[in-house]
Amino acid sequence: MSSFCEATKLHLQNAGKLLKLEPEMIEFLSRPMRVLEFQIPLRMDDGKLQIFSAYRVCHNDALGPTKDGTRIIANLTLDEVKALAMTMTIKHAVVDIPAGGGKGGIAADTHKLSERELERLCRGFIRGLSPKGAWVDIPGADIGTSYQTQAWMLDEYEQIMGFHSPAAINDKPAIVGGSLGGEEATGRGLFYIALAVSKGKALISQSCRVVIQGFGNVGSNVAKLLSNEGFKIIAVGDICGAISAPSLDISKLVNHVEQTGSVVDFPGAKAISNQELLETECEILIPAAVENVINEENAGRVKTKIILEGANGPLTPSADKILLDKGVTIIPDIVANSGSIIVCQFERTQGLCDMYWDDLDTIHERLEARILKAYEEMLNTADEMGISLREAAWVNGLHKVSAAIRMRGWI
Ligand code: NAD
Repeated sequence: MSSFCEATKLHLQNAGKLLKLEPEMIEFLSRPMRVLEFQIPLRMDDGKLQIFSAYRVCHNDALGPTKDGTRIIANLTLDEVKALAMTMTIKHAVVDIPAGGGKGGIAADTHKLSERELERLCRGFIRGLSPKGAWVDIPGADIGTSYQTQAWMLDEYEQIMGFHSPAAINDKPAIVGGSLGGEEATGRGLFYIALAVSKGKALISQSCRVVIQGFGNVGSNVAKLLSNEGFKIIAVGDICGAISAPSLDISKLVNHVEQTGSVVDFPGAKAISNQELLETECEILIPAAVENVINEENAGRVKTKIILEGANGPLTPSADKILLDKGVTIIPDIVANSGSIIVCQFERTQGLCDMYWDDLDTIHERLEARILKAYEEMLNTADEMGISLREAAWVNGLHKVSAAIRMRGWI
């Protein structure tokens, strides 16, 4: 089992102890309610057959229909999907979304597929899944998916059912029933929290140095918003390498990445390694790439005041401890990167009502209000119970999920 899966179980058990929950509750929530594992046979463009393993895990639906993304990566495991689904149950609860945790995926390397193969794979996923629709389980996007994959998945679902049902699939483009503001939602949520946490520490944006690992959807969007607000983005990195400068011009960097595919070789910036990136002195560090990048080995060398977790699980539990002992403020993933699930809830609401919000400012205001409420509640719980922000976020989420389970009489 990967350290991410172990860490997720640890967070659940720890929060259960802090809430003094009955052991049966933790035992129940340690296991997903439903697990589907199936195979997708795919005729490749060269005529050969390849078989791909696929999964969908519905962790718990006490608070509402299960929701969240489909991860398409080569080394996907069922354990990883189970851990992500469990995290989603708590994440929805923390930000007061009436939904349970779901996660799915396909073990496939999208870089080795043609566009036609990827389309057939996505359609095969929906056929194998037999999705139950907007009131039961709603697949969204995750690593390896895009607006295009979500549009194919929605189309396949609607072709099977014989009617339109935009609320059955999330993270789709607005032209087929998606929400405005969906694409930048996670970066924007991180931005609102960055403003709140820096204000709480009396940090002024102009003197706040920010380092970001990952310059994809999450990293580039938070970089744009922070830099427009006057924050200095002094280093960024992606899978190909990293760069630093006294203050990076983010709009030029976005153009450079669009043209070259990477932040590397950005004119005027110094090349650094991904390890140096994470160890660059700054006020705010945003890991927005992959899991476990800050761990026992490098946590002692991290020189920041605040960590905002853009990625899921970028810190291992031992890194958490080292950094907390050093006085670093860590805003945990289940609050920090919840912007996308908040806007997904808006997307579902619009689809169910067949009424689409055309005012982006309203979406931003509602996202800001929802994420900052969860942030404030986390601060209050941490203060009242004398625990870390991560523990407080898990306590708040688990408290709501366990209350719903008890009310339903399941335990
Ligand atoms: P993305 O694929 O758009 O971008 C990922 C970025 O990380 C790229 O710049 C890539 O080059 C870089 N990267 C990948 N592996 C790396 C490595 N080993 N070292 C350094 N950089 C690496 O993905 P994204 O949508 O921006 O998601 C980033 C993270 O945020 C993921 O962990 C994802 O699960 C999490 N997340 C995303 C969303 C969302 O709405 N997109 C929501 C919640 C959480």
